[in-house]
Amino acid sequence: MSDQLTTASAARGTVSLVAGITTELVRETQARHALAPTASAAVGRLITGAALLGASLTGRERLTLQISGDGPIGALTADAWNAGQGVVAARAHARHPHADVPLNARGKFDVARVVGAGQLQVTKSYEIGQPYSGIVPLESGEIGDDIAAYLANSQQIPSIVAVGVLANPSGIIAAGGLIAQLMPGADDGTIGALEAAVAKMPPVTTQIAAGADTRALLTAVAGALELNIFGDLGVAFDCQCTREKVETALLGLGRDELLKIAGEAPDTEATCEFCKRRYVLSSNDVGALVARLD
Ligand code: ZN
Repeated sequence: MSDQLTTASAARGTVSLVAGITTELVRETQARHALAPTASAAVGRLITGAALLGASLTGRERLTLQISGDGPIGALTADAWNAGQGVVAARAHARHPHADVPLNARGKFDVARVVGAGQLQVTKSYEIGQPYSGIVPLESGEIGDDIAAYLANSQQIPSIVAVGVLANPSGIIAAGGLIAQLMPGADDGTIGALEAAVAKMPPVTTQIAAGADTRALLTAVAGALELNIFGDLGVAFDCQCTREKVETALLGLGRDELLKIAGEAPDTEATCEFCKRRYVLSSNDVGALVARLD
């Protein structure tokens, strides 16, 4: 099925749930960045996590997940925002998109190894006011665990986070995830029922590859708990880069550097690190930027 997020609650509102299918989102991210297999699993899990958390954003809020690890992939960033019309937009990039390592002992992508040890920073920015930011050490580098550690330690919300990417040599087969958060008032019976359901639940991507939709994922994670579905949201890869933003970034290089760039070649090419869109500026365009600085 096409990409979708579905929000719900269980056990009379004491468990908050969101499930998502992000196969197309991860495919597009993989293609734009030519991500190697392990890198696509790492970036795919992170952008899926951003999209799932993005389901609760309103207005012009934006959520950014940044992983700084010492593994071969380097820094990873994903962000999500409410694009309006019931759609959550997301984008991501990796410092070293070609980073790849052998499968781990369980035959899975070794995301922990490609990410390494480090930290996860989560920033929520609002239309007005200061952004909020929290940082936690990476729990395992597997990304789902790390997002769960952030929610538990920085937000004081005990959570279960599952994010996954299933791929074979020909490409991404399925991607998606779910987040279950315990709200105040969740009793031991609810926690026990949730843990029992999660323990016997097949991996999310196995369920998606077998045809499960987001409601089926929510039913599986809720187990014996009564489920209350709120609604569906679309998911789309998007980037809000513009020529103007590229020019602002170039202005930051300063007058001397701009003059050097303009003198080196007739055209200057800038590529957006998130969507790989190319912006070409002639030496006249760069000259006009220098004039703005003068
Ligand atoms: Zn862009």
